[in-house]
Amino acid sequence: MDLSLTPAQQALRERARRFVVEVLQPIEIEFERARGRLPAERARELRRAAIEAGLAGGELPREVGGGGWSVFEQVLVHEQYGQVTGGLWSYVPGAYEVLVHASPEQRRRYLEPSLRGERFGAYAVTEPGAGSDARTLQTTAVRDGSDWVINGEKWFVTGPDNTDFMVVQAMVADGDARLPTLFLVDYDMPGVRMAYDPDYMHTFADRHPQFVLEDVRVPDTARLGGVGAADDLANEWFVTERIHIGARCSGAMQRLLTLGVEWATQRVQFGERIFDFQGVSFPLANSAADTSAARLLTREAAWLADSGADRKVVHAKASLAKLFASEAAFTCADRVVQVFGGRGYMRDNPAERYLRELRVDRIWEGTSEIQRLIIARSLERRGVERVVG
Ligand SMILES: Cc1cc2nc3c(=O)[nH]c(=O)nc-3n(C[C@H](O)[C@H](O)[C@H](O)COP(=O)(O)OP(=O)(O)OC[C@H]3O[C@@H](n4cnc5c(N)ncnc54)[C@H](O)[C@@H]3O)c2cc1C
Repeated sequence: MDLSLTPAQQALRERARRFVVEVLQPIEIEFERARGRLPAERARELRRAAIEAGLAGGELPREVGGGGWSVFEQVLVHEQYGQVTGGLWSYVPGAYEVLVHASPEQRRRYLEPSLRGERFGAYAVTEPGAGSDARTLQTTAVRDGSDWVINGEKWFVTGPDNTDFMVVQAMVADGDARLPTLFLVDYDMPGVRMAYDPDYMHTFADRHPQFVLEDVRVPDTARLGGVGAADDLANEWFVTERIHIGARCSGAMQRLLTLGVEWATQRVQFGERIFDFQGVSFPLANSAADTSAARLLTREAAWLADSGADRKVVHAKASLAKLFASEAAFTCADRVVQVFGGRGYMRDNPAERYLRELRVDRIWEGTSEIQRLIIARSLERRGVERVVG
C-alpha cells in the first residue's frame, strides 16, 4: 500500500485546507450564535468561494461535471472538512453520488444545478418504522398509467433550508416481491408536506425535517434507475460516505488535539503547566494514537477502494474506519473539553461544539452497532486475515 501524496494531491489538500481555515473557521462562532442560519447572501458567498476553490462536486466523476477525485483524494479533502465545526463544509456545492445514474434530462434538471449551487437535494430513506432495517420501508410507489403515485412518511430528510428536491426510496410491489426503487421528487409537488422540522443536538446548516408524501404523482421520467435498483445504485455510495465520515472524524481529532495541546502547554495551575500533569497529557497522548489509527484505517479503506480490491472487503474496511474513527472522535472531544476545564463547556470553544456534533457520526450512515454487524459478518465469511490484514 502506497499512501504517499503526489504533488497534485498535495495541492488539492492545500486548497481544501485554505478554504476551511480562511473561509469557514472564521465564521464558526457567528454561525453557532445564529443557530445555523446565515443570511442567504452569506450562504451564496460561501458557495461561490467553494466553487472558486475548485471543491464543488469534487467527489463526482468528470463525465457528469464533477472533479473526478479518487476516493483517496476525497479522503484528503474530507480530513480538512473535519477541521471545521457547524458542518460548514456542507456549503460546498455537490450532489448525492447516486445522481451519477440520472438520465440526461434528470442531470440537466437536478445534478448540474446542484453542482452550480443553485439546487439542493436530500436523500430520503429512513421512516418512523424503518431505520437500521431498510427492508421494512412502508413508502409505496404504485404505477398509474405513465405515472407513479407515492405515499409514505420520511424522517431525517437532510438538507439546507432551501432544499428543493429529494431522492425518495419507495417500495414497488411486484406480486409478493417489494422492489426498492428511487424517485426524484420536487418539494413543490402537490402532496409533498414538511410535517415537522425539529432541532437537533448539533447546530448545522443542514436541517433534518420529517415529510409526509400523500398521493404524490410523478411521471415515469422521475424514476432514478430501474425498478428494484435502489440498493445496487446506493450501496457503493454508502461505503464511500462511511469513508468520508472516517476522514472528517480524523480531521476533527487533529484540530481538537492541536487546541488541547496549545491550551495545556500554556495554562498554569498549582504553579505548573497543566500539560505537566499526566492526568492532562496522557488523555491527549491517547487521542494522538487514536487520531493516527483513524487516519490510517480511513486512508487504507480509500486506497483499497481505488485499487479495485474485493468490494466486500472494502465494505468491511469502510465499516472499520467509520466505527473506529467516530467512536474515537467523540471520546477525543470529551477529553479535550476536560483539558479546557470550564472553558471547554462554553459554546465559543470548538471542543464544546465538536462534543455535540461528533455524536451523530456514531448514528448516521449506519449506527456503530450496524458497522459491528457488517464487520462481524465479514470476519466469518471472508476470514480474519482479509478483514484486518
Ligand atoms: C442528524 C441525522 C441526519 C440523518 N440524515 C438522514 C438522511 O438524510 N436520510 C435518511 O434516509 N436518513 C437519515 N438519518 C437517519 C439515520 O440513518 C438513522 O437514524 C439510522 O440509520 C438509525 O436508524 P434509527 O434512528 O431508526 O434507529 P434504529 O434502527 O431504531 O436503532 C435504534 C438502536 O438499535 C440499534 N440496533 C438496531 N438494529 C440492531 C441490530 N441488528 N443489532 C444491534 N443493534 C441494533 C441501533 O444501533 C440503535 O442503537 C439521519 C439521522 C440523523 C440523526
